[in-house]
Amino acid sequence: MTLMILPGLIDIHVHMREPGGTHKEDWDSGTIAALAGGFTTVLAMPNTRPPIVDAATLAASLDAARTKARCDYGQYLGAGPDNVETAPALAPRVSGLKMYLDQTYGPLRLDEMTLWMEHFAAWPKRSPIVAHAESRTLAAVILLAALYDRPVHLAHVSLREEILLIRAAKERGLKVTCEVAPHHLFLSDADIPVLGGSRGSGRGEVRPRLATAADRQALWDNLAVIDCFATDHAPHTVAEKDGENPPPGFPGLETALPVLLTAVDDGRLTMDDLVARMATNPRRIFGLPEQPDTWIEVDRAATWDIHAAAMHSRCGWTPFEGWRVRGRVQRVVLRGQDAYRDGQVLAAPGSGRNLYAE
Ligand SMILES: [Zn+2]
Repeated sequence: MTLMILPGLIDIHVHMREPGGTHKEDWDSGTIAALAGGFTTVLAMPNTRPPIVDAATLAASLDAARTKARCDYGQYLGAGPDNVETAPALAPRVSGLKMYLDQTYGPLRLDEMTLWMEHFAAWPKRSPIVAHAESRTLAAVILLAALYDRPVHLAHVSLREEILLIRAAKERGLKVTCEVAPHHLFLSDADIPVLGGSRGSGRGEVRPRLATAADRQALWDNLAVIDCFATDHAPHTVAEKDGENPPPGFPGLETALPVLLTAVDDGRLTMDDLVARMATNPRRIFGLPEQPDTWIEVDRAATWDIHAAAMHSRCGWTPFEGWRVRGRVQRVVLRGQDAYRDGQVLAAPGSGRNLYAE
């Protein structure tokens, strides 16, 4: 065994599916998957059913997390058509304001640009706005970041034109940061038929879509522009993915670290690159407190094959099925306590802390 110590990892983009989709995941199973993947902090997205858009829905999510979560956490608030005036008061209690501007479904999608402007003007500058914005919508959001002179974090960047635009924005000093998901770094549209599913390409459905090999290469070529690696852990069950109208989304909590460590071995990035994007930068961008006496231990020599059957997520599949990877999480210590060791989850439900508690 070649033991390596890393800081507890932070995943700033996770879908816990609670409330409304707990057959896919909940605060318990999702935080177990997080610990098994080396994450000691997860930030949960607000597009649950119902979505988290006000004090009552936020309290319901945080109540569930308080009794179930086994790692530390934060919750995003969703920007909706009716909460421009009420959302800012909740800012101290959440990780940021999530705005769905593109390619998503349900009540949180904001099509009116005037509404974007109202949220940009109202949301406190010390808390980030996180935007799901693709292609030309991303250009519009960068313009708003400039006009309102405020921090904006761009979720799951996948296209060459997007990463080049963000690079140009950063060169001009705009307060934009971004994340890329491992599946956009390691998979492309050529993998969709391989991922398959019993009815065709259902398992390959994800938003943003898997892009071209040239887009994927552009992400690697502009690694310096990428602030964070975030899984966008979006679990759906095998039955849903292989059924009619497969919902978009991949699980990612238990595969992110091993596929990225394997890329380190392949010389595609350094350990410093990895730690910056999975711990240091997320902590800075989202104003997260240090977790004292917290670290993870990874067996860097362990070579193993990824299989969904050995995972903890409720979804039961992974787009990285059968991948041979190097590096396995052996132990997770959270605030001095063994939270995970040798494949066993030791942290109790409710032992995780809300990192935005007032
Ligand atoms: Zn997402």
